[in-house]
Amino acid sequence: MGIGMKRYDSIIIGTGAAGYNAADRLFGLGVRNIAIVTEGRFMGTSRNTGSDKQTYYKLSLCGSEGDSVRQLADTLYSGGGVNGEHALAEAAYSTRCFMRLVELGVPFPSNEFGEYAGYKTDHDPRSRATSAGPLTSKFMTEALERAVLEKGIEIIDNTRVIKILTDGSGVCGIAFVDTQTGEPGEIACTNVVLCTGGPAAIYLNSVYPESQSGGTSLAIEAGAELANMEEWQYGIASTGFRWNLSGTYQQVLPRYISVDADGNETEFLYDALGVRSLGLIFLKGYQWPFDTRRADGSSLVDLLTAEQIKKGNSVFLDYTRNPKGHERGFEVLPEEAYEYLRRSGALFGTPIERLEKMNSGAIELYASHGIDIRRERLKIAVCAQHCNGGIDVDGNWETRVKGLYAAGEAAGTFGVYRPGGSALNSTQAGSLRAAEHIARTRRKSSRRAPDYELPELRFGRSNLAELKARLREGMSRYADFDRSTEGMKDLFGRVSDVCDKFFEIAVAGSKAELAELFRVYDAYVTARTVLSAMLTSASEIGSHGSAFVDRRPNTDPDGVRRTRTVTSGALSRIVPVTPMPDPELWFETLLERQRRRASEAAGGMNGGQ
Ligand SMILES: Cc1cc2nc3c(=O)[nH]c(=O)nc-3n(C[C@H](O)[C@H](O)[C@H](O)COP(=O)(O)OP(=O)(O)OC[C@H]3O[C@@H](n4cnc5c(N)ncnc54)[C@H](O)[C@@H]3O)c2cc1C
Repeated sequence: MGIGMKRYDSIIIGTGAAGYNAADRLFGLGVRNIAIVTEGRFMGTSRNTGSDKQTYYKLSLCGSEGDSVRQLADTLYSGGGVNGEHALAEAAYSTRCFMRLVELGVPFPSNEFGEYAGYKTDHDPRSRATSAGPLTSKFMTEALERAVLEKGIEIIDNTRVIKILTDGSGVCGIAFVDTQTGEPGEIACTNVVLCTGGPAAIYLNSVYPESQSGGTSLAIEAGAELANMEEWQYGIASTGFRWNLSGTYQQVLPRYISVDADGNETEFLYDALGVRSLGLIFLKGYQWPFDTRRADGSSLVDLLTAEQIKKGNSVFLDYTRNPKGHERGFEVLPEEAYEYLRRSGALFGTPIERLEKMNSGAIELYASHGIDIRRERLKIAVCAQHCNGGIDVDGNWETRVKGLYAAGEAAGTFGVYRPGGSALNSTQAGSLRAAEHIARTRRKSSRRAPDYELPELRFGRSNLAELKARLREGMSRYADFDRSTEGMKDLFGRVSDVCDKFFEIAVAGSKAELAELFRVYDAYVTARTVLSAMLTSASEIGSHGSAFVDRRPNTDPDGVRRTRTVTSGALSRIVPVTPMPDPELWFETLLERQRRRASEAAGGMNGGQ
């Protein structure tokens, strides 16, 4: 790879919205001996995903309703399982991060006086959400990438990190393999900002882009802990081309069809729920993630869809004809749905005609991926979309391993619920917090070159695809939004066995397949922690917001969980969340602190790096 043993102050892993922002911010704060390492510059969730209207959650910046940092922090905290310092920092950094994206050219809509209008999203008491359209996270990534390239920050592409190297004092480097040749190597560094995104490779039913794998095992093996790994978001998505079917995709009332092995078709929602099914399909538009609290409402759509799939049937959305029940007219719809369609001028025609009227871009989007929903049905499943948990970090987004930070979806700063769009805010706030801490503390690591030897690897007829499929099928069957304790226990045992003997079991076809081998390893090690957290939370707190356990309903007394699940290795425990901080807000005191810091920094300047 020709990198030799270069030494950097900080290595950022990942080229998503979090990774680019971490690099850009570090550079701006004077930490310049840095590089971004990525397994693929164009890979990952931020660049390759979106939805009907991809949401960015921020402090309200318009109108007269009012909002405050504390109110936003309280909303984030009330998601349950959230630490106070994370809620407060993500709220306090919201405006700064959002405005930076605006300045970088992300086209968030504003009026002629510069007010950024908002709308309401899931778990949002106000209208704090905004969007730059279906591809908000792609625009963010591209804008941040431009900023990074303009600064000449080095990007080491086609490089999968396989180990974070540590010595007694913390991080001292990384080990990697070239994704094309399998050639291994090491880089020495003092800090790592791990922005590897969500653990996307552990489920069969998944709406993460195919190009996103994840790198959570890097932190686990370096000695970091994980938080809330049982907390995920799942919802209806197309699986051929992976895309969330939220918003207008549901509001235009498509037909839900199940097809069995003999080709028999049923409209299973209507068969189970009668004309009520129409209102529930409509609601899925903005109640997209599965939620146990809606198990008797819109989440019935997820439950009934998954039931068909578990029977071995295939389920499709059909936009060419109206669903059963519609023959009695739009008047059978609940008032909310009727009014919405009326105001949108869409009380007519077939689902595709309504979609054409309300959001023609939604049709073009599939067309641009070779799928004509004017004619074709969309194969769907209830898919994993986002991990609310992740690597446990403190208020500076540092793990318990010195010099190892995590930000974006890789970090575990959310709990049971989060407002839709807050994941994108978190990519920016967390990476900025990490960059500031690195710049402020200027940690020193040992100057010794890190030393890493690859485990003994087996080559022959590759079994990686089979290993991967086995894990994903098990996770989607027993450990998704509808979980079985017995199934998870059995799977945990089998996954642990594979983890323990992985390098004896796994066979790569050639050296070029080594990156894939380490991806599969990462998926197994991460899934083991997910199962451990799920089993612990199932036994200690029963069912909770985001999932059923053995069909047990939500048991939280007021719906706000005040504990987190922390996993160390493959062992989980329940700990209380930290309270909301009550920091200094007296202006004169903060001004004095600022002066002191500035003079210390001037005294301690070491010429930048
Ligand atoms: C369908 C869908 C819709 C969504 N809609 C919304 C929404 O409306 N609002 C919202 O807030 N959030 C949404 N999300 C979630 C949000 O998009 C993600 O949480 C966010 O983009 C993650 O950004 P990131 O920078 O943390 O990670 P990513 O963008 O996933 O980047 C990870 C990077 O790390 C690299 N990488 C991974 N492992 C390694 C390794 N071992 N070595 C080297 N490189 C590695 C990857 O190649 C990639 O470059 C959605 C997600 C999906 C899937």
